[in-house]
Amino acid sequence: MGDSKWLIHKHYASDYPRYQWIQELLHEEGEAKAISQEEWQVSLARRTGSEDAENIPQVLSDWSFKANTTFGVDATAKRAVEVESDADVRWVLEQTREAELPLLVLGGGSNVLLHNNWNGLVLKMAMKGVQVLSDDGRELDVVVGAGEGWHEWVMHALDEGWNGLENLALIPGSVGASPMQNIGAYGVEVKDRFLWLEAIHQETGALERFDFARCEFGYRDSIFKQAERDQWVIVRVAFRLDREAPLQTEYGAIQQELQACNVESPSHRDVAEAVMRIRTSKLPDPSVLGNAGSFFKNPILDSVLFDRVKQHHPHVVHYPLEDGRFKLAAGWLIDQAGWKGHRRNRCGVHDRQALVLVNYGGATGQEIWSLAQDIIADVQTKFGVQLEPEVNQIQG
Ligand SMILES: Cc1cc2nc3c(=O)[nH]c(=O)nc-3n(C[C@H](O)[C@H](O)[C@H](O)COP(=O)(O)OP(=O)(O)OC[C@H]3O[C@@H](n4cnc5c(N)ncnc54)[C@H](O)[C@@H]3O)c2cc1C
Repeated sequence: MGDSKWLIHKHYASDYPRYQWIQELLHEEGEAKAISQEEWQVSLARRTGSEDAENIPQVLSDWSFKANTTFGVDATAKRAVEVESDADVRWVLEQTREAELPLLVLGGGSNVLLHNNWNGLVLKMAMKGVQVLSDDGRELDVVVGAGEGWHEWVMHALDEGWNGLENLALIPGSVGASPMQNIGAYGVEVKDRFLWLEAIHQETGALERFDFARCEFGYRDSIFKQAERDQWVIVRVAFRLDREAPLQTEYGAIQQELQACNVESPSHRDVAEAVMRIRTSKLPDPSVLGNAGSFFKNPILDSVLFDRVKQHHPHVVHYPLEDGRFKLAAGWLIDQAGWKGHRRNRCGVHDRQALVLVNYGGATGQEIWSLAQDIIADVQTKFGVQLEPEVNQIQG
């Protein structure tokens, strides 16, 4: 049964009060002519009076992940809708519930790997806006729409003299996704400047506020990747910025870059520009070579397991954590296991950055995932350490 006929059938069977509307709809369109799902949605909304039909967002069909995600995997979504307001989000949630379509929330698509086509609807976050909530002359609270680009927001803040995010310059993706995995780089994480976020519950449509404690931030982690996974659509994020934020230049690479450019007393913008130059020299540009940044997280070991690894591999690159555990450099493990620069048909491991898996063109999500699984198994065999993907695996 085609999409539209199936939807009509479902409503006919499950929602008798709408029977009249559907009959009228069929009459208007002519019994012989099947209507598209989009026409059906607009007509239904007009009849229920639940939405202003003029403002209903456009539903796109056969939406391409290749064009909308940084891995560039050739997969499609059955439907996609760009949302620009809370009302749009609720409308999409209602449609997916009614049609029993699986929902995938996406921002910039820079941290996902699609294993298959998505047989459901993509909610593409496009909510914009930057608003100052309070300002005491030094510190200020600013709320930002989830669909703003992360890097564009960091640059805008710097232009305004609102500091504290400079080390996170040039991280791809959207503001809304930044708390998901508590993005971090060069000694700073988004949690360091996070105030609260607002999110809409996917089942109930209720808007709720999450403060710092409720987000349960961890290393590349938050409650949205754990207990509340796939439960919420984040619609806006608030940050506390500081015109006199202390500079974070402890990372060796930042110091070296500033020295190389003869910058003796750096400004916040100097730090951002140093970070951008380092990132550009180290990481492959997704518009040239498909990738999603670090594919794996750096594994964290307790002291017993760490001692065991160190005994056999005295040069293992590691960082002691405050809680007594140890973070290992996943890139070092992968490199030592012999995978750096390894190419397997249309995908591979980047030759300068072993943490990054790349799509040379035409690789499927399953090919890339199969390579990732072989790396995980090999590192486990050689070091007794379990690697975990940082990139979100979307099964479709
Ligand atoms: C070249 C490169 C370098 C990178 N460097 C870094 C780095 O230094 N540090 C770092 O932490 N990350 C890095 N990343 C990873 C990525 O940029 C971040 O994780 C980013 O926050 C993802 O944002 P996005 O909008 O693209 O998310 P998407 O890929 O669109 O989504 C990621 C996950 O978040 C969910 N999601 C997205 N938006 C919302 C929303 N509004 N509400 C609810 N759920 C949502 C999605 O369902 C998905 O599960 C890098 C990626 C690339 C390609």
